[in-house]
Parts: sequence; C-alpha cells; structure tokens
Amino acid sequence: MARYTGSVCRLCRREGTKLFLKGDRCYGPKCAVGNRPTPPGEHGQARQRKQSEYGMQLREKQKARRAYGVMETQFHRYFLKAENIKGITGDNLLIMLERRLDNVVYRLGFGLSRPHARQLVRHGHILVNGKKVSIPSYLVDVNDVITVKGKSAEGEHFKALRESGSGRMIPKWLSFEAGELKGTVIAMPQRDDIDLTIQEHMIVELYSR
Ligand code: SF4
Repeated sequence: MARYTGSVCRLCRREGTKLFLKGDRCYGPKCAVGNRPTPPGEHGQARQRKQSEYGMQLREKQKARRAYGVMETQFHRYFLKAENIKGITGDNLLIMLERRLDNVVYRLGFGLSRPHARQLVRHGHILVNGKKVSIPSYLVDVNDVITVKGKSAEGEHFKALRESGSGRMIPKWLSFEAGELKGTVIAMPQRDDIDLTIQEHMIVELYSR
C-alpha cells in the first residue's frame, strides 16, 4: 500500500498542529510547528487565510488520518464502522483509532512515535496475550496484555526503556510496568482520554455530505 514518504514535519505544518510523528524532537525546541507555523509551500500563508467550511472539514479529517497514520480507504472504513456502533459517531471513530495496536504501543512508550511503533509491530517485536501480532491495525480489547518479544527486549532501545521508563504520561485506560515491558488494557479509551485537538464532528459532517 502506498504510504507518504516525504517530510513528516510538513504534515504537521500543513495541519497547523503537532501530530507527534518524530519522537523526541516533537517535544523539543526544534519542532517545525513552533518554528515555522505557516503551512508549507510557496502559497502557505494564502492557504492559511481562506478556508471554506468544506476545507475546514477536510483538514480535520486529514489531521486525524495523518496523526494515526491511516490511509484514506481504511479511514473511511473506520468511519462506516463507527456509524454502526451505538453512541456518537465522531467519538466512536476516534476511540477505534485509539485502540489500534500501533497507537497502544506508542502510548505505552515502546515506540518513540506512532510511525516507530508501527514499525515495531510490523517487524514482529510485539506480543498480545503472549502471541506475536504484526498487524498495526489490530484493535486491542480490555484485559489484553501487550509485551515485547523475549529476544527483542534485549535490544538497546528496550533496555533503556526498562531501566528509565518512557517518561511519557500513560493514559488512564492503560497500565504499564516498565521493568517487565508490559502494558495492560484496563478499560476502553474514552473521548476525554484522547489528547489530539481534532474536531471529530467536522469529519462526520464531511462524510455526511
Ligand atoms: Fe516535526 Fe514532531 Fe514537530 Fe510534527 S510535532 S513538526 S513531526 S517535530
């Protein structure tokens, strides 16, 4: 499947917000959003000024899609599923994205960013309930236990994590034992647990046009 391979900081600048796609750099003074807040490209400033309602809805959708690293077709499939679940469609959509295994691996601090977490999953370093799961879109459930494969846990990245922790705030729907490199899903995530500044109702409006 085709994936965006350009500069990820351009994506953040385009959406005008931090999407946290680059690990530690995102938390430091070198973050491109802080340094160059206008959209990228020759006409970046002009793009910032004029935005139709459709344009704003489109940007919210792109922001969510890019933050979670999901392609267009798959994102639309998430939306269709969210519509069929009881409750608020926008909340259902974000909660489903939040339950993706690559996102959970990122939230637990195993991955420095969501793209790094996706790579860890794809390369078979992550176990769910003791079994290797290499599908980033796998949706976790309550009581699922996420660990690192025995041999992989001996690598430098995981050794450092075991010794000093990730230094990241673990959301309240997950628990994390750094010494054992073990995370547990203790509840389903709620909308309030998701710290991204996305106006999900605009995504719903966009797809309902
Ligand atoms: Fe780049 Fe991270 Fe800042 Fe986004 S949040 S602009 S990926 S450094």
